[in-house]
Amino acid sequence: MQNIYDLSQADLEQYFISIGDKPFRAVQILEWLYRHKVTSFDEMTNLSKKAIIALKENFVIEHLNLKTKYVSKDGTVKYLFELKDGNLIETVLMRHNYGNSVCVTSEVGCNMGCSFCASGELGCIRKLTLSEMVLQVLYVDNELNKENERVSNIVVMGIGEPFDNYETLLKFLRTVNYAKGLEIGARHITVSTSGIVPKIYEFAKFPLQINLAISLHAATNELRSKIMKINKVYPIEEIMKAIDYYLEKTNRRVTFEYILLKGVNDSYEDAMNLVKLVRGVNCYINLIPYNEVPTNSYKSTSHDDAERFFEILSKNGINATLRMEHGNDVAAACGQLRAQTMKKEDKKC
Ligand code: SAH
Ligand code: SF4
Repeated sequence: MQNIYDLSQADLEQYFISIGDKPFRAVQILEWLYRHKVTSFDEMTNLSKKAIIALKENFVIEHLNLKTKYVSKDGTVKYLFELKDGNLIETVLMRHNYGNSVCVTSEVGCNMGCSFCASGELGCIRKLTLSEMVLQVLYVDNELNKENERVSNIVVMGIGEPFDNYETLLKFLRTVNYAKGLEIGARHITVSTSGIVPKIYEFAKFPLQINLAISLHAATNELRSKIMKINKVYPIEEIMKAIDYYLEKTNRRVTFEYILLKGVNDSYEDAMNLVKLVRGVNCYINLIPYNEVPTNSYKSTSHDDAERFFEILSKNGINATLRMEHGNDVAAACGQLRAQTMKKEDKKC
């Protein structure tokens, strides 16, 4: 039977119309599931008996199965979930002074094959379903509710390329933003992409004010193509054109993520190439310390060199932040836990 969490508001409306009931039932169901967090259909007391019977015949209410949980000294929590087909995914809770942020996985693995990333090592086995995405947030929110806290921010920056699972991503964004449900403000949600250009154009037209982050990591095609295969398909100039369109359409500042890899992309020249590339663009640069992965030889730039890189950007008038690592002691980079636990698979997304 299908998990009710796999249905978006539009799907639920369709369902109720198909059984001769009213489409507004969808709103009631979402409120029960995401606001009151009921665990059985019988608790949905404003539904008719007939509707409850129909729901019970066709759907189940199921949550994710936690396999392991790691708690870091800084309060970061890493969750490893086992999906029904045995695949593993990771979700991370990061505690900031502005609230609780959840890093959500969008696919089992990733096909983009960035050379520094543990998530790409095994390729993409499959895309996540809507339930598998929203239930990551609900699981963490339920845990936080016990401490009278809640999830306030979401970053779709876990395993996978969210723009490779685009339709489900949009359903996910609408569901977590839904006013009578989890009600996570669109401006508190960020989607990160490695730069799937056609989807940047499409996302510019998505009505919610979601933040967009682009994983840039290098400011020249020569270097970016070496570390991110996707750059051979969508080179930097195509990304920048798409970003111009995005900015014109949305007027929302974009973020460029730039992980600092020792001796690879962290020289003075690299910083100046970045300055030249983004000068005049309504953006800010998020400098991210690299979380070392045992299966490759990339090293993280030292803290002093990272500060130097940051200073070059600042002196040249580029808005940048130097992000601190979270939960480094528990499991390092997102995707690594899973990569350690899973064996190589042939199946592809
Ligand atoms: N696929 C999307 C979103 C998931 S990756 C993307 O690439 O944007 C989220 C971010 O984590 C990306 O910027 C990615 O480059 C970065 N990342 C991957 N491996 C990392 C590591 N070992 N240390 C630090 N950041 C990493
Ligand atoms: Fe995929 Fe993002 Fe990792 Fe690249 S960095 S392999 S796009 S998850």
